[in-house]
Amino acid sequence: MWLLMQIQENVSLQALNTFGIDASAHYFATPENEKELSELLEWAKKNAQPVFVLGGGSNIIFSSDFKGLVIQPAMKGVILVQESDNKLISDNKPVSDDEPVLGNEVIVEVGAGETWHDFVQYTLSQGWYGLENLSLIPGTVGAAPVQNIGAYGVELKDYLESVTTVAIASGERRIFSRPECRFSYRDSIFKQAEKDKQIIVRARFRLLKKPQLKLDYGDIRQELQSAGIATPTPKDVANAVIAIRQRKLPDPQKIGNAGSFFKNPVVSAAYYESLKEKFPSLVAYPQGEYVKLAAGWLIEQAGWKGKQLGNVGSYAKQSLVLVNHGGATGAEVMAMAKAIQQSVQEKFDVLLEMEPVVFGN
Ligand code: FAD
Ligand code: NAP
Repeated sequence: MWLLMQIQENVSLQALNTFGIDASAHYFATPENEKELSELLEWAKKNAQPVFVLGGGSNIIFSSDFKGLVIQPAMKGVILVQESDNKLISDNKPVSDDEPVLGNEVIVEVGAGETWHDFVQYTLSQGWYGLENLSLIPGTVGAAPVQNIGAYGVELKDYLESVTTVAIASGERRIFSRPECRFSYRDSIFKQAEKDKQIIVRARFRLLKKPQLKLDYGDIRQELQSAGIATPTPKDVANAVIAIRQRKLPDPQKIGNAGSFFKNPVVSAAYYESLKEKFPSLVAYPQGEYVKLAAGWLIEQAGWKGKQLGNVGSYAKQSLVLVNHGGATGAEVMAMAKAIQQSVQEKFDVLLEMEPVVFGN
């Protein structure tokens, strides 16, 4: 079969995952458009090769080499689709007839291969607001809906309108509206029923032309105050988030990591009360009828903060982040994860669920 694009063989994935685990892909390709992607999927089908989709590798732990085709979508570009007066700008179909674009909104479409943080910066430069609290999250736009990325009180689902996908098995194109994506805390249909079945090629966002700042989470207000900013703009908020993150989180360029390694567990209010009695300094946040426990606090109390097992450690400034002290293997990461899970289970009777995806044949 003649292919428009190149498929590389035996490609190292070490520089393509932020944990820095040494693994390889038998075949590897970076399609820049849907035509190239369709050809690759046909090729994989014909040659009976399993397919895995890789973004920026910032939420992945490689457990083995991959005997198949790794596709890293490289579709680029940002298009303004629709603006507040409901004028259709691109020749694409309007997003939703039920939810017209309101006076202060824009609909923007972006390619899956764009870097998330660059996209956020671009939206701010255009006067399109909402994503400022999600600044500096590593990875690509295409992966962002997979776990409904979130930080500092904002989640992707608050601004995502729809995603366009191509099915790995059939090559069929489909649009998932926001409800169809079934977003929840660090979760979506792409981590559940459609896991490893769809390739996100584009995403649409509904952004604001008049900012609605969210400043009540974590240290944002304090950061703005110490910068002497009394009436912040969305760009100021983005800069505050960037500064806090740079101080607190390990830079994957310097020390390998995949961000938070476990999700914050959510327990019943009754169970929270019983824990709080035993552990009065327990850090937790109410979520309706449930309570979210700070996983980092549980790990710290279980004695893991700054500890190391083999080449993997819990980061000294944020115990929820596991780091690669050099040459860590997938097996070492999983051993550390299991040891932490076991300690937390024994001390608090709470199961920590891993956040990153484990990938391998
Ligand atoms: P990858 O790690 O490459 O892939 C993740 C999953 O998405 C895999 O299952 C993969 O198959 C799938 N996938 C990737 N691209 C596509 C596509 N186009 N179509 C379909 N499936 C796809 N996350 C947060 O939510 N909030 C944070 O604040 C945050 N901070 C972080 C800080 C650091 C230092 C690091 C290292 C990570 C952080 N993360 C955070 C986790 C991570 O950045 C996000 O989950 C990000 O969206 C992953 O993007 P990626 O492109 O690197 O995806
Ligand atoms: P932090 O501010 O020290 O807070 C610790 C935990 O408490 C966070 O996990 C956060 O939950 C929760 N929290 C803090 N303030 C809260 C509030 N007002 N209401 C409800 N929950 C609150 O955490 P951090 O490690 O420095 O991270 C800051 C933000 O970036 C967090 O939102 C975090 O999720 C995000 N982040 C995510 C990753 C990742 O890989 N997923 C990595 C780094 C940072 P939430 O996590 O639910 O927000």
